[in-house]
Amino acid sequence: MSVLPLQGKRVLVTAGATMEAIDPVRYITNRSSGKQGYAIATSLRALGAEVILVSGQATAPLPEGVTIIKVASADQMLHACLHNLPVDIAVCVAAVCDWKMPLAANQKLKKKLNENSLTLTLVKTPDILHAVATHPQRPGLVIGFAAETQDMLENAKAKRMVKQCDWIVANNVAHGTGVLGGDYNQFTIITDTQVITLDRMSKQQSADALSQLIVQTITP
Ligand code: C5P
Repeated sequence: MSVLPLQGKRVLVTAGATMEAIDPVRYITNRSSGKQGYAIATSLRALGAEVILVSGQATAPLPEGVTIIKVASADQMLHACLHNLPVDIAVCVAAVCDWKMPLAANQKLKKKLNENSLTLTLVKTPDILHAVATHPQRPGLVIGFAAETQDMLENAKAKRMVKQCDWIVANNVAHGTGVLGGDYNQFTIITDTQVITLDRMSKQQSADALSQLIVQTITP
């Protein structure tokens, strides 16, 4: 019986959008569909890995055969990720909201008749990719994503250093590419020694190609 190449490997994937509460009825989020992260979880599972998928909001159908941990906020996503270490590989695809309320209001914020604007002071959410990449139980391979609309390569290379991950997968999400919410993507994978530009293809095919590169890297 043949053994799948990622058999015995434990993989953490983050996907979807986080949702940051403003008050009991309002929140901040983004347009992530979760498609790309779910496709990566599917590919890695098909290659034999045990996949833990920590997912925020997503419209894509849930992948099968993986452990799914649904979360809402970035803080919950961070907690779920750290709680599931150690893993061999982490792929952080989630579109984590950059900002949150320091403390969400307990009651619905009232709209006052005599005020035409509302100012909210937001604070940064925790950087999950950075926290995983700098954790004492750091996975052997940590992969982050960089969605860019300009100077993609330079920004992605800088992000790889700041986040302290091994690879950054850059993709151009500029208006007109149709990446956000769409079914196609074009990956540029930046490692410490290489820049690998893949063709534009379906999100599942992009996920499969990335997964093959992972296999080549971590299996002797
Ligand atoms: O900082 P930026 O959002 O551009 O970084 C993108 C990469 O970092 C993605 O891999 C994303 O999943 C991850 N990230 C994270 N936690 C954050 C912000 C981004 O894990 N708070």
